[in-house]
Amino acid sequence: MNVNSFKSELVQVDLSLRYLPFCSFENVMKSIHGFEEVLEGYSVQRRPINSYMIGSGPTRVLMWSQMHGNESTSCKGLLDLMASMHRTCFRNILQSCTIVIVPMLNPDGANAYTRVNANGVDLNRDAVNLTQPESRVLMSLFDRFTPHFCFNLHDQRSIFGAGLTGFPAALSFLVPAADQQKTCSHNRAVGRSILGSVVKGLTADLSNTVSQFDDHFNINCFGDFFQSKGATTMLFEAGQLSTDYMRSDVRLYFSFALFLALKRISSPKDFTENADFYTNLPQNMECYCDVILEKVKLQSSGKTISIGLTYNECLEQDDVVFRPSVSHIDPIDPLFAFKIINDEINLFTECDAIEADQLIELLESNQSDLIKNLTII
Ligand SMILES: [Zn+2]
Repeated sequence: MNVNSFKSELVQVDLSLRYLPFCSFENVMKSIHGFEEVLEGYSVQRRPINSYMIGSGPTRVLMWSQMHGNESTSCKGLLDLMASMHRTCFRNILQSCTIVIVPMLNPDGANAYTRVNANGVDLNRDAVNLTQPESRVLMSLFDRFTPHFCFNLHDQRSIFGAGLTGFPAALSFLVPAADQQKTCSHNRAVGRSILGSVVKGLTADLSNTVSQFDDHFNINCFGDFFQSKGATTMLFEAGQLSTDYMRSDVRLYFSFALFLALKRISSPKDFTENADFYTNLPQNMECYCDVILEKVKLQSSGKTISIGLTYNECLEQDDVVFRPSVSHIDPIDPLFAFKIINDEINLFTECDAIEADQLIELLESNQSDLIKNLTII
């Protein structure tokens, strides 16, 4: 199955914006049927955190997304998958697996469009101390359900390239380490084989824009912690592919990647094949910005510099606005962007040595139309 035939089976839920607050999530869940809903606990601000169970097979799969509240693409991709599970192509998966899903682990962060929860804590650094109610919900579910496989689903910023090839990291994967030595334990080897099959299945549609996430070990991260407990854990990161800042393109590939992984888990084969497809992936590199202004001419000296702009995602009146800020100043090497402007831009300044915050102020005052046009509302 390729992404186009998968798309014809997929039921995409009615969510298109990057801002995905709890009420929108709740509304959409009313249209998704066939799951057993369980109230697992409450967030700091007393929003319910529910799990949704489906399938009757012996292989136990746990999936969660939006543990970082401003990472909605992975949640939308997961909801699309859930809304499609009545389709024939999922029959074998649901006969082989029992799947428990927590689509929105951090509803307070989702409402505030923040990475952290309402106490300002990054839940993905709380796996050992369990200081937050949301962390305790996930740990308690893990202990009770004892999954064989865990899917840790996130979004990543648009700053990552797939290596230094010039291609963006639209999707990144990781089988996290289970110890400081990054030993390839049995469950890690299984994860590599599964993700290898996923990468192989994506190659025809998404070649060069898939990468491997940083595998620095941190026991406080849930993925690393669950891996150390023996559950094969896989990290999926939805990134940026194009100037589609709503990430509807990546959302489709994300759902497809999840489907391929579940299909692989449901197939009665040993998990040794295809690992190379995963291990040979390029590493995520911080080599991307959103816009490059190639020719900015400084009035003071006549010198021409290039400037890299990166979007800040700001929640303004219940909408996420993408506001450009200066992230890179000449020389830029190597730096890639989703948009390159090579028209000459004159900047009226009396100074040559300019800092990033001064530059954005100058651009805003000198080139207000340019900045206005680059802002995505
Ligand atoms: Zn995240």
